[in-house]
Amino acid sequence: GRKLLMIPGPIEFEPDVLHAMSIPTDSHVSPDFIEIFGNSLELMRTVWKSPKGQPFIVAGTGTLSMDMAVANLIEQGDNVLVISTGYFGKRFKDILERYGANTTILEAPIGETVSLEAIEEELNSKQYKALTMTHVDTSTGILVEPKFIAALAKKYNTLSILDGVCSVAGEEIKQDEWGLDVVLTASQKAIGVPPGLALLIASEKAIEVWQNRKTLVSNYYADWNNWLPIMKAYEERRPSYFGTPPVNLIVALETSLKIISKEGMVKRINRHQSLAKAFRAGIAALHLEILPKSNKIAANTLTAIYYPKGIDGAKFSAKMIENNIIIAGGLLPEIKATYFRIGHMGSVSSNDLISVLGALERTLLELGHSMEAGKSIQAFQNELLKIN
Ligand code: PMP
Repeated sequence: GRKLLMIPGPIEFEPDVLHAMSIPTDSHVSPDFIEIFGNSLELMRTVWKSPKGQPFIVAGTGTLSMDMAVANLIEQGDNVLVISTGYFGKRFKDILERYGANTTILEAPIGETVSLEAIEEELNSKQYKALTMTHVDTSTGILVEPKFIAALAKKYNTLSILDGVCSVAGEEIKQDEWGLDVVLTASQKAIGVPPGLALLIASEKAIEVWQNRKTLVSNYYADWNNWLPIMKAYEERRPSYFGTPPVNLIVALETSLKIISKEGMVKRINRHQSLAKAFRAGIAALHLEILPKSNKIAANTLTAIYYPKGIDGAKFSAKMIENNIIIAGGLLPEIKATYFRIGHMGSVSSNDLISVLGALERTLLELGHSMEAGKSIQAFQNELLKIN
């Protein structure tokens, strides 16, 4: 049967987006494509809520977005504070150290966040050039509050860099209002485009800090010196070239950004919030435990769930596939085998999540876990009716 891809990226893409990928590849300097690229840059500003920021669209993955932010903003010996709520926080530390940053990591216990008090105490202890945070850490399903962390960063004259790979277009973000200096993402998650695009918006301050560097950016491909003139040219609807853009992916990006704009950001974020809340109610009705210690810090784009006692992860995933749902295993090395993850972002609907819960119940019953069929679906439906 047809299988639903319910991992936290890549996700199920809209048919129109997939169709856009298959249109014959145009020249990257044709007037039509220049218009599509320019429009995509403008639409990014509305999704990020950053009318003043500088958007970048570059071929690569989310890791390139992280690399690009660090390569351009950080110089040897700079102090950088890493706020980590899982696997992707540590990736930031690795990238920062590759560029010679002097890092301090504040690591949340599994299932928790780092307190604002702990962040402020650290920012107060020495001058930090920048801090990094992961809006939704895809390894734990933990959601942080960038609004308050960015305000603290501003207070201590520190740049704020937000990894929004698992949040942009799925969780609430107001880049300019919150004072975030970089908000970065990738195409394959809530933005709703197949993997291959690194996307970010840099604030005016971030661009200024980059312009005042004392040393050359030590990554040739990621250097904004190469990409900024290209982004400016496309936005001014002029032809330009540095590296050949992935034409088909950018046509798909414009299509998806138009779908997102048509839905509207308020409605879209509400949809993610209510579906996630109802899904967690369904999971709770099965007496399954999620990684986040409270619903307040649980992401709206994915849910990380512990296996019940006695359930084998490999068997569980295989049975879920037999039930036509593709899920993701654990990612956090310390507890990898003890939990699984369900993505619910982008085009996701209530019907998709009812399918997931149905498959989940059948899988658990088939593996000998005793419970009453239908309970999670009932809880999901009731919660959704309560919200709407
Ligand atoms: N940050 C987060 C929060 C992610 O979820 C991911 C991808 N799962 C990345 C960074 C890295 O993105 P990519 O796999 O596209 O390089």
